[in-house]
Amino acid sequence: MATLFTKIIRGEIPGDIVWQDEHCVAFRDITPQAPVHVLIVPRTEIPGVADVPETGDHQHLFRAARLVAEALGVSEYRLVVNQGEAAGQTVPHLHVHLLAGRDFTWPPG
Ligand code: 5GP
Repeated sequence: MATLFTKIIRGEIPGDIVWQDEHCVAFRDITPQAPVHVLIVPRTEIPGVADVPETGDHQHLFRAARLVAEALGVSEYRLVVNQGEAAGQTVPHLHVHLLAGRDFTWPPG
């Protein structure tokens, strides 16, 4: 059974894809928490950081984040990865949130 994000990547359900390459796909979050809120997702289905193997599409996530930021014209941004329910993870397909367009506080709360 494909994950929600795989279905978006395949075009089986709608998604606002802003960037993609052979390893990762980036699309806008359906409930944006900032003026720019994009999810960067490896094409390979990995449930989360706890399941990351030694090699694979996930190795390209940081480079993808840089290229997505450049494509969207943002130079200051926050990258977030939630691992597990207590951390706020709701979709079990590894992804990086790229948030930009407003100020962010630290610690995140
Ligand atoms: P998580 O909570 O797992 O770190 O992040 C999952 C993200 O997926 C949430 O920010 C949520 O708004 C987003 N999301 C959930 N369903 C959909 C959907 O159908 N389409 C898109 N584009 N984003 C979704």
